[in-house]
Amino acid sequence: PEISLPQLFRQSVGKYESHPAITFNEECYSYGQLNQAIQKVASSLAKLGIQKGDRVAVMLPNCPQYPISYYAALLCGATIVQVNPMYRASELLYVLNDSNSKVLIVLDKLLPVVESLGNQTSISTTITVSFDEESEFNSLLEDEGDKVPDISIDPRGDVAVLQYTGGTTGRSKGAMLTHYNLVANTLQSAATSAVKTRSGQERVLTISPLFHVYGMTSGMNLTFYNGGNMILIPKFEVEQVVDVIEKTKPTVFPGVPTMYISLLQYYKTKQFDLSCLLTCTSGSAPLPVHILHHFNKVSGTTVAEGYGLSEASPVTHRNPIVGLQKAGSIGIPIPNTDAKIVDIATGKVTLTIGEVGELIIKGPQIMKGYWNRPEETKQTIRDGWLFTGDLAKMDEDGYFYIVGRKKEMIIASGFNVYPIEVEDVIYTHPKVLEAAVFGVPDEYRGETIKAVIVVKEGELNEADVISFCRERLATYKVPGEVVFVEEMPKTAVGKILKRTLQEQLSN
Ligand code: ATP
Repeated sequence: PEISLPQLFRQSVGKYESHPAITFNEECYSYGQLNQAIQKVASSLAKLGIQKGDRVAVMLPNCPQYPISYYAALLCGATIVQVNPMYRASELLYVLNDSNSKVLIVLDKLLPVVESLGNQTSISTTITVSFDEESEFNSLLEDEGDKVPDISIDPRGDVAVLQYTGGTTGRSKGAMLTHYNLVANTLQSAATSAVKTRSGQERVLTISPLFHVYGMTSGMNLTFYNGGNMILIPKFEVEQVVDVIEKTKPTVFPGVPTMYISLLQYYKTKQFDLSCLLTCTSGSAPLPVHILHHFNKVSGTTVAEGYGLSEASPVTHRNPIVGLQKAGSIGIPIPNTDAKIVDIATGKVTLTIGEVGELIIKGPQIMKGYWNRPEETKQTIRDGWLFTGDLAKMDEDGYFYIVGRKKEMIIASGFNVYPIEVEDVIYTHPKVLEAAVFGVPDEYRGETIKAVIVVKEGELNEADVISFCRERLATYKVPGEVVFVEEMPKTAVGKILKRTLQEQLSN
C-alpha cells in the first residue's frame, strides 16, 4: 500500500477505462469519464488556490459529485473532511472550525444551514452542487483541465481523510486516515472477497453513505479497486431501493443492520427477488442473529458480518465470504491484522478463549492519530495497538464476538451485563422490530436494565417482554423496565443513538 489513493484509482482507470464506474439515476460514468471529471475539478480547485495539506470539507449525500470531489481534492494533496449532511448548525460549525477547512463542497439544499453560520467559519470558498439546476460545481467540470497538480504525496505521512467520530459517545474527534491506511484497507478488504469478486463485473448497491467510513471504503474505494460499478442511492427509502434492485440487479451489497431490517419488513408486503445479490456484508452496528438468518433465507445468499471503526479505516474483522461464517460473530481478523482481547482494567493482560475484555487491534489500517488531540491519541493507540473501546470475546476457532461498548457495559447487582446479549434475545420476539438496552442507575442494584422497543405489529406489553426474557436469560440480565417508543433516534448508518434515546426518555 505504499501508493496514494489517486495512484490506486489511476491503476483502475488503466485497466477498466470503458467499464461503468458510477450509475446514478439515468446518469452513467465510465472509468475514463470519471477520471476526466476528476482531472477537471482538480485543475479548478488548484486554480482556486487549494494546496497540499489544505482541508476540503465535503457535505454531500451519495451522488457522482462525491467521488469526483474526493479524488480531485486528493490529487491537489488536500485532506478531505467528511461532513454528515444531516448536521445541524452547531455540529457543522464545530467540524469546520476544528478541521480549519478552507473549502466546502455542499448540496444546494443544505445551504440554509451553512448560511446560518455567517462568517464564523474558516471557509473561504463554498461550492454548491445541485441535482437539477446549474451549479457552481458544473462550472468546475467545464474547466480545461490544464492545471492538474502534480503533487508528490507521502502515503504514510499525508492525511487523506479526517473522519469525525465519537459523536455517539462524546465529543467528536477527527481520525486522521493516511493514504497508506486507506489503500491498505482497500487491499485487505479486496483480499477477503477475492475468491468471489469478478473483476470489472460487480454492480455494487451503494446506499451506505460515503461520508461515513464504511461506505467510503467498502462502497467506494473497494469498488473502484475491483473495477466495479457503484450504483449510488442518496437516501434509504425502501420502496425506491427495491425498485433500483429490480432494475439494476446489483451483485454486491455493503449494508448496515437497519437496511436489512427494513428490507425484510417490506418483503412482507411485497415479495421481491434478491437472487441477483451474490455478496452481502453488514457492518457498523450489531446485526441481530435472527435478522441474519431471515435475510439469508429470503435472499438465498449469506450476509457476512464484519466489524470496524473510523480509527481503523474501518475494516478489521469479517466473516469469510467463502468459508465458515458464524452467525452473531464479526468473523476473523482480515489479512495483515492482529487482534487480541485484553483485560478491561489495565489493558495489559491478554485474555483467553471465551473471556470478555477490550478488543485491541494492530495493522496498516490503524489511523495516524486524532487531529490536534495528542492526549487522546496516546490513550487510544498504545504500543501501536488501537484500543477500540469495544468489549469482545474470541472462540476456539479464532472468531470474535462483540458484546458491547466498554462505556455501555451494565453492572447489575455486581454482574456484568452486555447489552447486545439482551437485545439479541428481545429481537427474537416476533412482535419486535427494534430494541435497545441500557443501564439506569439504581440505589440498590447499582444499575438496572431498561429495554426500549419499537413494536413491529400487534400488541406487546412490558410483562410479555419480561417473561419472554426470563425464559431465555439469567435473572440478572432480565430487563426491570420496558418502554415502547414509535421510533428510535439513529445515526446516518442507522446506529441507534442510545445517549439521545436516554435523554429523550428522561425528558
Ligand atoms: P462513536 O465513536 O461514538 O462510536 P461512531 O459509532 O460514529 O461513534 P464509528 O467509527 O462509526 O463510530 O463506529 C465504530 C463502532 O461501531 C465500533 O467501535 C463498534 O462499537 C460498532 N460496530 C461496528 N461494527 C459492529 C458490529 N458488527 N457489531 C457490533 N458493533 C459494531
